[in-house]
Amino acid sequence: MIIAANLKTNLTRHDTASYIEEVDKCAKQSNQEVFVFPAISSLDSFSAEKVEVGTQNAYPTVNGAFTGEIGLEQLEEFGIKTILIGHSERRHILGETQEFIAKKFAYFKEQGFTIVYCVGEPKEKREAGKEAMMEYISAQYEGIDTSYEKLIIAYEPVWAIGTGLTPTLEDIEDIHTELKQKSSAPLLYGGSVKVTNAKEVLSLKNVDGILVGSAALYAEHFCTMIQYA
Ligand code: 13P
Repeated sequence: MIIAANLKTNLTRHDTASYIEEVDKCAKQSNQEVFVFPAISSLDSFSAEKVEVGTQNAYPTVNGAFTGEIGLEQLEEFGIKTILIGHSERRHILGETQEFIAKKFAYFKEQGFTIVYCVGEPKEKREAGKEAMMEYISAQYEGIDTSYEKLIIAYEPVWAIGTGLTPTLEDIEDIHTELKQKSSAPLLYGGSVKVTNAKEVLSLKNVDGILVGSAALYAEHFCTMIQYA
């Protein structure tokens, strides 16, 4: 199983260091693959043995004039070889287009990064029925090499992120089964996963792990979820 924490714009550099240290301890006691994506300003050369630290974002460049962004050179400084691409907050709040996301994907694939690639539909597409919803999600596969060997996909329904709402377990299983036909890459579920529902989500067919936001902010809670896997 793959258990991943997306810390988003939370935790200071100081708190992130102790967070990773604590999570590494419990990750070492499990057989799961554990990823943590800290805020960019908290990236560092962590001494974690088991936790793989990734970046929540980067610009597809080695370096250059891209104000506010970071490139390969800054990631290499900390040995970062994993990136989150296509997260709904970057698509919807930061306005990243599928075209740009595909460009970013191609660049970091070329650099041999492990890519956690996020897809998921907003509420209105979910309410428009399965066909409209799958059509919307399919468009998020455009320009993406779904056979890339270091690809991990995360299905995160936008309406379930940070809302406490989740699809039913049957719905998660159903969508995951459909998405597995598009790519055999490991497939994570994300969106309001917490200690109280992680176990049942992880037990579903075609769910290869979880990508957790708010409920992962406390190392103790995240460790409980790692133990469930
Ligand atoms: P929440 O777990 O807070 O819903 O966030 C999920 C997410 O966006 C992980 O990438």
